[in-house]
Amino acid sequence: MSYVISKNGKSKVFHRKSCMYVNQIRYCNKCTRKNDFKDFVIMGYRPCKYCFSLGYKYDCEIKGIDNFIGDANIKHMLIGDDLIILTEVGYWKINYSSEHTAFVLYHGNFYPDDENPERYITSEFHLQEDAGHSQTLMKFIKYIKSHDDFRLRQLNNIDNYPRKTLKEKKQYKRIKKKYDYFIMANTLRLISAKQKIKTDKRACVG
Ligand SMILES: [Zn+2]
Repeated sequence: MSYVISKNGKSKVFHRKSCMYVNQIRYCNKCTRKNDFKDFVIMGYRPCKYCFSLGYKYDCEIKGIDNFIGDANIKHMLIGDDLIILTEVGYWKINYSSEHTAFVLYHGNFYPDDENPERYITSEFHLQEDAGHSQTLMKFIKYIKSHDDFRLRQLNNIDNYPRKTLKEKKQYKRIKKKYDYFIMANTLRLISAKQKIKTDKRACVG
């Protein structure tokens, strides 16, 4: 990957080539270097706050993300500095970690039971460690899709799940718990959606 720095060197910042701040570097100082992201960090540079922000990457990647998602039931929305992703069975958050100088993925502990975006970011999450970190959002979108497709298949097949051995029984119990929770959260969501329609109607009449 190539990034742009200023040879002038006062501000040890590196930019993506498409960053608007690249135009502000004087031509004689502008230097494009073919190095990995981590090489720049090792050399003492820090990524530009603008072109390495989640919002910037989201704008750049949104077309590809939408193409990848296609007809799948996956919603994504930028709320502040977080990218929230909702699938049928899970909700997720991506944000920029300055510790890792990369994006990291969080998995929601509970499925939000209403459609209020504020609830999405104030809910509890845990770091999805096996997803690692990434310089692109797409890597996580792909991870989420395969993770939740698998989960959905598991939930839909809960009755056929083998539970002969102790290991299978344990596994079944774990998935059954998730299944019950999923059914409950879905019911709550439906109820709150219905209530919302009712209050909206009342507001129209009033
Ligand atoms: Zn920049």
